[in-house]
Amino acid sequence: MSASLTTTFDDKNTETSNLINPTLVLNCGSSSIKYALISEDNSIRITGLAENLGLDTARIKHTTLNGDKLEISISGGRHQLALQKILELLEQYHFIAVGHRVVHGGREYSAAVRVDEHVLDEVKRLKILAPLHNPAHALGIEAVQAIYPDIPQVVVFDTAFHQTMPPVAFRYPLPKALYEEHKIRRYGFHGTSHAYVSERASEITESKGPHGWLTAHLGNGCSATAVYDGKSFDTSMGLTPLEGLMMGTRSGDVDPSLHIHLKRQLGMSLEEIDAMLNNESGLLGVSGLSNDLRTVEQAANEGHADAKLAIEMFCYRVGKYLASLSCALPEFTGIVFTGGIGENSVTTRTSILEVMRHFGIKVDADKNASLFGGSEGSFHADNSSIELWVVPTDEECRIAQETREALGLL
Ligand code: ADP
Repeated sequence: MSASLTTTFDDKNTETSNLINPTLVLNCGSSSIKYALISEDNSIRITGLAENLGLDTARIKHTTLNGDKLEISISGGRHQLALQKILELLEQYHFIAVGHRVVHGGREYSAAVRVDEHVLDEVKRLKILAPLHNPAHALGIEAVQAIYPDIPQVVVFDTAFHQTMPPVAFRYPLPKALYEEHKIRRYGFHGTSHAYVSERASEITESKGPHGWLTAHLGNGCSATAVYDGKSFDTSMGLTPLEGLMMGTRSGDVDPSLHIHLKRQLGMSLEEIDAMLNNESGLLGVSGLSNDLRTVEQAANEGHADAKLAIEMFCYRVGKYLASLSCALPEFTGIVFTGGIGENSVTTRTSILEVMRHFGIKVDADKNASLFGGSEGSFHADNSSIELWVVPTDEECRIAQETREALGLL
């Protein structure tokens, strides 16, 4: 670790007094930890990222209250060390609670809950459904417990927002026993993002509620949700975050017989097929170039045929999914785009809406072109059948809010 930690970190006398009763939001992934310290009124935050955990290049990138950037090497350090350093960086702000983003909550949790022994056991047990994510979340909870045993911790599940889906949407057409005895059903993910942007759209639209939104969270991971009157009615991800839309490296929907076919034809193991579908498919797999849409867009503009096809497939599949999810909504107010792609790629938004050509959607091209880089606004033309919005997601803010709610601090 760099010796400069205590000497370069001098926020103490700046705006500390405004960072009242902050909540620490932690998103512990398999090789990274994102964190944000958020003031009671959500107006001020300190953010950072520990990345490359376990490697020589492990480091913490920290942005102070002043906006200064620090980089701290924790060469070889894993979750425990990274969290120890992150907590050292933040302890001067006296955070009052810690909220963890947890990918899988199974069917037990429909809201954020305070961590106790049972909750922690559940997070660990659900490793079976989220092998990459839940073990890392459990490590994060335990690391905070070890250092600050008295600070209340809350888990906010990606799956919780989707617990309002009706059986017609969450069941698979499989033998009943698989659902009843083994919890095989659709859970849905990105819940905090879909919840945040749909709630925000309902706040800023001029149309009267109840509202029916299709929210398209398009980042590295992509999912779409039908939200009616603040509740998830259906969503594109299922038992795991692999189902649904084409993503950066994930295939999304494929024929369920693909596994057996590849096993028979190529002798691939189930683990190899699973890794291929999760890590080598999507934009990366089809373009053969990258999971990053910017790279793929640039290549497509230079005439790269596979890059062009990857983008066309991405947009076609999003448009097709949105069209089908509209069936879940009693009323269709509009579409809300979010995530790195949804917030920034003007052409992707246009191409997706062109796929939905029978819906009477009319885009205001100038407004669409003005929405990128964190701006929020609508881009439907006056004669459009539905509204179109870009709402930058803020999962950290939502997690902080749910953490405070779960602890009765609001
Ligand atoms: P994550 O799911 O990891 O949080 P993000 O929400 O940050 O990911 O989204 C990452 C995706 O957003 C990448 O495919 C990236 O190329 C895309 N993206 C970010 N900015 C732009 C942009 N200006 N134009 C097109 N795509 C963008």
